[in-house]
Amino acid sequence: MREEIRHAIETLLIHLVSVDTDLVLFVVLTIMAVIVIDAVTHFMSKQESRTGIDTSVPTISVDGSKAVAEKSYLSEIQGLAGTPDAIIVENGFVIPIERKPLAKKIRDRYVAQLLVYMRLIEEFEGKRPPYGYLILGPNCRKVKIYNTRKRQQWLQQMIDEMQAILQNGHSAKATPHPKKCKKCNVSDSCKYSYNHTTLKERNALKIVEA
Ligand code: SF4
Repeated sequence: MREEIRHAIETLLIHLVSVDTDLVLFVVLTIMAVIVIDAVTHFMSKQESRTGIDTSVPTISVDGSKAVAEKSYLSEIQGLAGTPDAIIVENGFVIPIERKPLAKKIRDRYVAQLLVYMRLIEEFEGKRPPYGYLILGPNCRKVKIYNTRKRQQWLQQMIDEMQAILQNGHSAKATPHPKKCKKCNVSDSCKYSYNHTTLKERNALKIVEA
């Protein structure tokens, strides 16, 4: 369609070239505008297929973007902090997006992370987000996660457990797993890691295995 419009404008330009210089200038500018719009649209659709984030909706932040830099939240009241991969405005709500490019399925920890962002957004943006999005895998599967009371209670339980570990010196239980430990960032320094412990050592450490 755009090609046809461009061709029609070029043809018109050829016919009018000897008629009016101002008109020719106008047509040239129109052609340039079409080319720019075309390039921008192409770039946006490429970005969308790469990130799974709809670039046509108002966007507050995108991780790694120069135009709309990432936005971090730090709540001393809640003892929570987080930086969503992107934040958009949808239906009048500020909505967090978390991208997991290697994920094949929804994991509890992804949902928990998104729920934390929703809490932070509620505190700092003044309105409770009714949902957030997870963008999963290389094909950018978009999953809407609703911010329900039940899910927030589940999150609160986990936060309470973590705070009890921190405040009361309760020991955390390691849950090593060959696949998890292989990809884990702290594997080199973790004494429970599957990568450098034997079954005997893990038994001696009384590790709960996942
Ligand atoms: S290396 Fe340690 S922290 Fe990482 S997954 Fe394994 S047990 Fe957990």
